[in-house]
Amino acid sequence: MNLLSFFSPTYSEARSRFLEEARRCDLDVTSHIHPLLGSAGEELALDVGLDGARRASCLLILSSGCHGIEGHVGSAVQVALLNDPGWRQSTREAGIAVLYLHALNPHGFSWGRRTTQENVDLNRNFHDFTLPLPRNPGYDEMAGLLVPHGWPPSEAVQAALGQLLAERGLAAMQQAISCGQHDHPEGLFYGGHNPTWSHVTLRHVLREHGRDCSRLGWIDLHSGLGRSGVGERIFEGRAGDEGPGLHRARSWWGGEVTSIDDGESASAAVTGQMLRSLYAECPQAECTGITLEFGTVPLMQVITALRAEQWLENHPETPPPTALQIKQQLRAAFYPDSDEWKRQVLEQAVEAARQAVVGLRTGSFG
Ligand SMILES: [Zn+2]
Repeated sequence: MNLLSFFSPTYSEARSRFLEEARRCDLDVTSHIHPLLGSAGEELALDVGLDGARRASCLLILSSGCHGIEGHVGSAVQVALLNDPGWRQSTREAGIAVLYLHALNPHGFSWGRRTTQENVDLNRNFHDFTLPLPRNPGYDEMAGLLVPHGWPPSEAVQAALGQLLAERGLAAMQQAISCGQHDHPEGLFYGGHNPTWSHVTLRHVLREHGRDCSRLGWIDLHSGLGRSGVGERIFEGRAGDEGPGLHRARSWWGGEVTSIDDGESASAAVTGQMLRSLYAECPQAECTGITLEFGTVPLMQVITALRAEQWLENHPETPPPTALQIKQQLRAAFYPDSDEWKRQVLEQAVEAARQAVVGLRTGSFG
């Protein structure tokens, strides 16, 4: 089987491919239909496929497309696993049910955006919105520089950003830009003021499938941060679970599992993360989850691509050739057109999935 054939060029093809494999494997499939249509007029959905018993005591969640356009990678991993009889047999023998969540943010996937239709970063949207939201003064300060009125940015804008970078360093800049903000709805890494459609739908799915298991593992597939072709395993635990949870994650996935809270990760410490919803929705389960984040191009290139694309979103009157160039730049930053990269990604994702099965089967070391 040609591994590269698991990658699809569009959301629509990725969805058809996933549903076809899910049917072939006789998965229990539910499609949660999105209220809007995709870029080609197609139906959008969060497709949920369960491989295994409904009330299994061990559940492994494999999810794609939290950040829309990153779904090209996650979808390929899901399709590859469904095509791997050895993988399916190992989960069956271990008594583990696998829940595939295909395209958590189908709108972003179809429209080639990282955000939801609300321009929200889904992985910054999991807040209790009855409480005051975190402030991000570091972002406030440079909001107008990151997504300026004109694109490409003027020399004055780039010089001002360059000065901030020189004064504060790349790590502090990355933290301010990407940790999440709630005051600039037309800006980057916007966390929103309400739960998005994807947020609400995911919680519903977790309640439906995640309330009978005693152990739960989750691998959420992403791309765009870190060294090219390297899958960083980033621990996602609730505050206070850094001890036993992180220890358990490292016993499953290896000592190189990083935590966003200790500065080792390619990711900044962010707020409103999706995986933390597990603790509220599946309180009975021992939860062990990671973001599996595949590096693509250098960080500054990713940020530039995101800035340009947000500017384009704010300026729909942009001439089509410029718009196309900006969209292609974003796609290249999250879904590199490289066979070698695709092979590396699949290999590491399959390994992480297999490690999760061993971890779930063996039980807690934490
Ligand atoms: Zn992501």
